[in-house]
Amino acid sequence: MSEEPAKQQKTRLNKLQKRLRREAGRAIEDFNMIEDGDKVMVCLSGGKDSFAMLDILMNLQKSAPIHFEILAVNLDQKQPGFPEHVLPEYLAQVGVSFHIIERDTYSVVKELIPEGKTTCSLCSRLRRGTLYGFAEEVGANKIALGHHRDDILETFFLNMFYGGKLKSMPPKLLSDDGKNMVIRPLAYAREKDIAAYAELREFPIIPCNLCGSQDGLQRQVVKEMLQDWDKHHPGRIEIMFRSLRNVVPSHLVDTELFDFKGLERGYPQGAAAQRGAEPASALPEMIDILSL
Ligand code: SF4
Repeated sequence: MSEEPAKQQKTRLNKLQKRLRREAGRAIEDFNMIEDGDKVMVCLSGGKDSFAMLDILMNLQKSAPIHFEILAVNLDQKQPGFPEHVLPEYLAQVGVSFHIIERDTYSVVKELIPEGKTTCSLCSRLRRGTLYGFAEEVGANKIALGHHRDDILETFFLNMFYGGKLKSMPPKLLSDDGKNMVIRPLAYAREKDIAAYAELREFPIIPCNLCGSQDGLQRQVVKEMLQDWDKHHPGRIEIMFRSLRNVVPSHLVDTELFDFKGLERGYPQGAAAQRGAEPASALPEMIDILSL
């Protein structure tokens, strides 16, 4: 912990908490993530993001005009060295209902993936399946994950660079079988703020490299690219995230998304009225963005 005087630390903590609360509240409202009577299963990995999400959701729960339940859940994947006492102790101390699922996905992954290959994709699939199944078992109608704005942007670029798709990680997602609703209440929060908040709140963070694997090299490359932009072009990350909320299908190249074939001359509204087309007044701002 730094040498920062206690009073300053407290002020910084309060500011960060307010900001994270405000951003989570806005995301919850914009996407109608939580409704009256919901049972929200909050997935805790032991990392800073999920600790912050639980903390902020518990905080919002106290003042929310609606009633919703929180069940904190951790999946103990039986990684060697996983400190299994840490989360139960913390969760009991903060007074939230919780459950630890014990499933040895670590051995399954080790058995199926050849040595030296990245194990994250199978590991995540197994984890997701287990958590979805458990949510159904306990009647949780929402599953909250701790991904934040920077995860969303990273995923966007990963999909573009390596998958040839313009897609990211949505703040709200219905599972393929239609049974589970995943929500990401920290979708508008900056990773920097979450990290600072986690440090000030002294969450008992469990290191994420216990499995001996690394999240893909590609994600790391994209992360560094974004961090570099953030350093050299302040504001760029905010603008890029804003663009994800401001999509103009008629100015992209996807014929499934916009009916280019059906475009016809002669309508009085002209191009500006086509769905999502930018009015001329937006042009100076767009040019500014292009020159960044
Ligand atoms: S880092 Fe380890 S625990 Fe995390 S997803 Fe990858 S394999 Fe699984």
